[in-house]
Amino acid sequence: MEIKEYVAMRKQQIRDEVASMKVRPHLAIVQVNEDEGSNSYIRGKLKDAEELGVLATHIKLDVNTSEAEVLKVVESLNQDSGVHGFIVQMPLPKHIDENKVKVAIDPRKDVDGFHPLSSLKACTPRGILDYLKFNKVELLGKNAVVIGRSNIVGKPMASLLTKESANVTVLHSKTSPQDMKFYLEHADIIVVAIGKKWLIDGYLFKPDAIIVDVGINRVDGVLYGDVKPGQKVRLQTPVPGGVGPLTRLALYENLMEIMKHGI
Ligand code: NAD
Repeated sequence: MEIKEYVAMRKQQIRDEVASMKVRPHLAIVQVNEDEGSNSYIRGKLKDAEELGVLATHIKLDVNTSEAEVLKVVESLNQDSGVHGFIVQMPLPKHIDENKVKVAIDPRKDVDGFHPLSSLKACTPRGILDYLKFNKVELLGKNAVVIGRSNIVGKPMASLLTKESANVTVLHSKTSPQDMKFYLEHADIIVVAIGKKWLIDGYLFKPDAIIVDVGINRVDGVLYGDVKPGQKVRLQTPVPGGVGPLTRLALYENLMEIMKHGI
């Protein structure tokens, strides 16, 4: 199933579930930046909440808010039984330690899945894995290559694919061109999270390989992926309209998990 159809289907199912719940799920979004990218992500998250019937509260703090005050807001959300899940939108201003904030969030409310003790999965890897599984893409014993080793995408993606019993290789900025070529030629599933427009091109792939392009690169106001479109493979996810909508969906999949299982 195409990503667009899949996301629409899951949204409808979540909307129905929310409508049948006694308690309306409540998501809070804390923002401490003036970042244009963050503004646009938050607009998307609020729009999704409205569509799904989820209550969403946007807490916008001044960029000069001290670390202690941000931690206080996090603590009050941890304690607030009326809030089921919340996120602190990254990036944070330089005077605030992002890691301190991430670990201050109660893992039971950590819908972003960033806390090391969170039993919820990070949104981008979760969105990708849910989609691959829904489409019955075989992972067991398959060669999965993840390019990029960030804490929010590459590492958790590699860990989830390992749990699915794929043979996982993580490539990164220090991988030699020869090794990149070798691993890509043998890969069944390739997840690319680098952040460089169309860096991946000119490689030979297995014809039935699947390429998941996580990259979002804005050049002159236009969005591009990390992989040049038109690779000769079974499936290449588009940018935009690919991993972005899957990531947005995963936030609400995580929230629903909290509502159902009280993580
Ligand atoms: P990051 O900057 O934290 O990490 C980039 C990784 O790419 C690093 O691990 C680095 O080793 C690797 N890398 C850099 N140059 C390389 C090269 N020449 N060859 C191989 N590897 C190289 O990035 P991130 O936070 O993981 O994000 C990656 C991309 O994904 C960005 O474009 C980001 O905007 C996008 N992203 C999209 C979504 C979404 O929802 N679609 C979510 C998160 C991130």
